[in-house]
Amino acid sequence: MMLDVVVVGGGISGLAACYGLTCKGYSCVLLEAEAKVGGKIKSLRKGDYLLEYGPNSCLASDKLVEIVNSVGLKDEMIAAGPRAARYVYFQGRLHKVPTNPLALVTTSLLSFRAKLRLLREPFVKRQVGVGDESLRDFVVRRFGLEVYERLFAPFISGIYAGDAAKMSATAAFPKLVALERQYGSVLYGTLRSMRGRGSGSLVSFDSGLERLPQGLATGLGDAVHTNARVQTVKFRATSPRYIVIAGGKEFAADRLVIGLPAYDAAAILTEALPELAALLNEIEYAPLVVVHVSYRLEELGFSPDGFGFLVVRTEGLRLLGAIHSSTLFPRRSPQESVLLTCFLGGATDPDVIELDDAELGEIVASELGRILGTSVRADVLSVWKIPRAIPQYSLGHLDRLRKIDKLLEGKPGLRLVGNYLRGVSVPDCIEKGLEMATSL
Ligand SMILES: Cc1cc2nc3c(=O)[nH]c(=O)nc-3n(C[C@H](O)[C@H](O)[C@H](O)COP(=O)(O)OP(=O)(O)OC[C@H]3O[C@@H](n4cnc5c(N)ncnc54)[C@H](O)[C@@H]3O)c2cc1C
Repeated sequence: MMLDVVVVGGGISGLAACYGLTCKGYSCVLLEAEAKVGGKIKSLRKGDYLLEYGPNSCLASDKLVEIVNSVGLKDEMIAAGPRAARYVYFQGRLHKVPTNPLALVTTSLLSFRAKLRLLREPFVKRQVGVGDESLRDFVVRRFGLEVYERLFAPFISGIYAGDAAKMSATAAFPKLVALERQYGSVLYGTLRSMRGRGSGSLVSFDSGLERLPQGLATGLGDAVHTNARVQTVKFRATSPRYIVIAGGKEFAADRLVIGLPAYDAAAILTEALPELAALLNEIEYAPLVVVHVSYRLEELGFSPDGFGFLVVRTEGLRLLGAIHSSTLFPRRSPQESVLLTCFLGGATDPDVIELDDAELGEIVASELGRILGTSVRADVLSVWKIPRAIPQYSLGHLDRLRKIDKLLEGKPGLRLVGNYLRGVSVPDCIEKGLEMATSL
């Protein structure tokens, strides 16, 4: 079958890329290994519970809303309050995360000294030419150690499940680094750049976030082939330049878009492009364990408030944090219960994934009791292990990406998309997928 483009991988990156290309009039196929599309985005009904095994929500970026509207999912999209409170568990209790300048001054999360240090940030000298600075060094240099430990580090584990000491500040938070460069201060720069900008809502769908990839796949129709695991790719000097082999079938095209996790992309490219495959294999991933639990409201006596909480690592707990799923969106649990989605593991505690389900459930139930201040035991609904959950933008990441780009220059029509490159969030994957479609 000769096509304009073959897209490999039916996660949100591959789907967005295929959608963008189809809108531009290209004939495409998308090959997905599993029985359904979505990749890390997985929602499952279990009785009256709606369980998210990957992302629970995502920011309603302009591009995301555009796609949602164009595939007819507008009426199914639901928004959580943009100001849903977030909490940090520190020194045995939950503290509200400060989200405005006044709250920063009054928060119980930081000592008086740390607040003074924070307010001094605009006067900390801008540093240029420090090379690839770690995220930890960047934040400590600008804001001090306490702000790093109690605010930034939990936040980083919430996004990347990462270890900030090993991550590249420029790769993981390019906007933060750019604020220092442009304004000489992250605080001042944030205030300046926030002017006139609405705060984005967190969104999902009535039947869960998986509705988004499903809706995209429906829109793409026959172009989407599931149960089509790509084994290898052959490169040719003349048209068709790429022959993709999946389940005994061959798909030929002059353009090839690979939307797989880095290690899977490496596997199908090893034969044709060993140097590129080696670079892709260097990208590390952090594991995550997702544990869903419920409480009966009558027993618990209260409904957990806000978005959820993150745990400061010095508390000595294994729980990274939890999302109050049934508080955030309606119809996530039976009326008489609440649903929490808890996370363990990440780059700072990778070994937790070796524990068995019963041990993991036990840890979550007992640590949650401590955090929520209740002796009521949580019911464990499911334990889900993701050995390579989130790519880590480690020191040297941007250098590696430059080498990858250089190798791709020699392969016309070959493109990579995916969360391991330049943004892990769902809206980032959508944006990069669409950008790729334009540049191709
Ligand atoms: C637990 C968890 C929580 C998260 N929470 C959030 C959140 O709250 N908000 C947010 O914005 N983001 C969140 N993220 C991040 C976000 O979900 C991911 O970064 C994003 O979904 C990744 O999409 P992707 O298409 O790049 O990769 P993937 O989703 O990994 O898709 C890759 C696809 O390729 C397929 N594939 C693999 N090998 C082959 C092959 N050989 N042939 C064909 N197909 C193949 C796979 O089956 C898969 O469908 C979370 C991620 C996880 C894991």
